[in-house]
Amino acid sequence: MNTLATIDLPDEAATRELGARLAQILSIGDVVALLGDLGAGKTTLARGLIQSVLGENEPVPSPTFTLVQTYEREEEAASIYHFDLYRLSHPEELVELGWEDAFSTGISLVEWPERAGDSLPETALWLELLEHGEGRRATFSGSSDWTKRLQGFLH
Ligand code: ADP
Ligand code: MG
Repeated sequence: MNTLATIDLPDEAATRELGARLAQILSIGDVVALLGDLGAGKTTLARGLIQSVLGENEPVPSPTFTLVQTYEREEEAASIYHFDLYRLSHPEELVELGWEDAFSTGISLVEWPERAGDSLPETALWLELLEHGEGRRATFSGSSDWTKRLQGFLH
């Protein structure tokens, strides 16, 4: 897949900030697949994104056990679906989680997307977080449609 951009994230605040910047370019139907090991910062990024939209006081628990947390928003604003598929036993379980509905009604953030098999849409934006020194390095990849959308906020 196309590597679109690489961004250094020296500390947790930078990971949250990247989430907040991402929130500004996402809209209904977008899927962001968050790759990275346990502790890489996937939930931190999702929390930064969700709290930038719903406020710092919005609790954003890790969906480790619920597999999905849904954040409804008023009127036409896209809902946000935060998935964590680590404990998914089979891709068929996705149906019960409202996987397809999420794609048509909101923005989906997906931790452990590997567990979804080939159920992820081809239009997904992939974001991998890797340890880098004391911090992290984020690498975006995906179809070239994303190049233009990412341009505005990458330096
Ligand atoms: P994951 O969901 O990938 O398992 P979490 O977001 O739950 O990871 O945890 C990531 C941990 O790494 C948290 O302790 C967080 O404070 C820390 N962290 C997040 N981003 C960075 C960063 N850019 N540099 C250093 N530590 C970070
Ligand atoms: Mg997590």
